[in-house]
Amino acid sequence: MAERPASEALFARATRVIPGGVSSPVRSFRSVGGQPYFVSRGEGAYVWDADGNRLLDYVQSYGASILGHTHPSVVRAVADAATRGTTFGAPTEGEVMLAEAICSRVAGCDQVRMVSSGTEAAMSAVRLARGHTGRSRIVKFAGCYHGHSDGLLAGGGSGVATLGLPDSAGVPAAAVSETVVAPYNLVPDLDEQVACVIVEPVAANMGLVPPVDGFLAGLRRACDDAGALLIFDEVITGFRLGPGGASDLFGVRPDLWCFGKVIGGGLPVGAFGGRADILESLAPTGPVYQAGTLSGNPLATAAGLAVLDELSPDAYSDLAARVSDFGKTLSERMTDALSGAQVTGSDGRHLEARVPVVGPLFGLCFVPVGSGPVRDYGGAGASAATGLYTRLFWSMLERGVALAPGPYEVAFPSMAHDSAELELTVEVATSAMGEILA
Ligand SMILES: *Cc1c(COP(=O)(O)O)cnc(C)c1O
Repeated sequence: MAERPASEALFARATRVIPGGVSSPVRSFRSVGGQPYFVSRGEGAYVWDADGNRLLDYVQSYGASILGHTHPSVVRAVADAATRGTTFGAPTEGEVMLAEAICSRVAGCDQVRMVSSGTEAAMSAVRLARGHTGRSRIVKFAGCYHGHSDGLLAGGGSGVATLGLPDSAGVPAAAVSETVVAPYNLVPDLDEQVACVIVEPVAANMGLVPPVDGFLAGLRRACDDAGALLIFDEVITGFRLGPGGASDLFGVRPDLWCFGKVIGGGLPVGAFGGRADILESLAPTGPVYQAGTLSGNPLATAAGLAVLDELSPDAYSDLAARVSDFGKTLSERMTDALSGAQVTGSDGRHLEARVPVVGPLFGLCFVPVGSGPVRDYGGAGASAATGLYTRLFWSMLERGVALAPGPYEVAFPSMAHDSAELELTVEVATSAMGEILA
């Protein structure tokens, strides 16, 4: 890999005072080998590393940034808010405005409670579902990630998948004894012990795995029949697939939503919400306790509002159209390259590239020629095991295009990724593929 002495020096310092040198495991590059680049600044679609290399950035803070880095409206909103005070421990107008902005865009979401991360949102939504129904069991899907709270750290995607951990040390068996892990894209049988089913309506922590026809509607029906609540974890899909997120796109309305990432404009924010009669069970009006010193933080709500203000329906559809064209071209070009080279997977079958696209999100996976789309965690694992993503990752990084450092992540083109950036990406990916196969 290119010399990155400044990043290497920072990483050496980091590993002395920060476990593994990182504040979140996927940033460590362990699943792709090597060391991370440190970012010194970002602008639009690009970041600059500590050595001054410019990288076309598809990480975009794992989806927390949708406008691209340092968007002027967001910078201004945060700076203005900071001059008025960074936190009070009293309600502010900003959190009301952000809650209004969320509820007005997501049909059926009457109320939201602000928190400071997606983890908190999912953890609190599950507690609320349990408290509201008086039941304990929860159902999640293999390969879906809902943050790192104990009860949801089973069969996880993203960093957990990347590290190959079935769950985590330090999570007592009792904490997950009421967590059932079911295969994605199959509607599970539910009984009257189930408080809730939590799902990523588009799975984006095992690569990008769209829901098959009828999966989400089937979950809605199964929950209704069993008296269980349906929770959509829209921490990635919310305000990214479109103004109304996945529930609007697929026409299936959950009882509760989890939000995060986009709604914080790059600051630490999450929210969970849903039907008013359920949210009433939350303290102070109800018996389900949930709280946070920095919840509804003025800087974070200002940033989130600034982002939502910039996101017109046209902006979403333009980006989705660009990425859709890009995905078709990229999968064709990479599959061509692969077919010339006759690369085989572990079972000896030849491989082809797939670039699944949903809205502006895209994934990158490698499957046996002629097989159907990846539809669950097993398929995602088989693609990761080809090792092609990892090799492509390094080869593209050398050429100045930064994908996420792990085969279970998706790519997050931002509003600042114009056709020129996407075309460049196809060129870079194609020559990187050529290099790998040579
Ligand atoms: C990122 C993510 C979370 C966790 O959010 P954090 O802000 O990292 O705690 C939860 N659910 C999904 C679907 C996510 O992608």
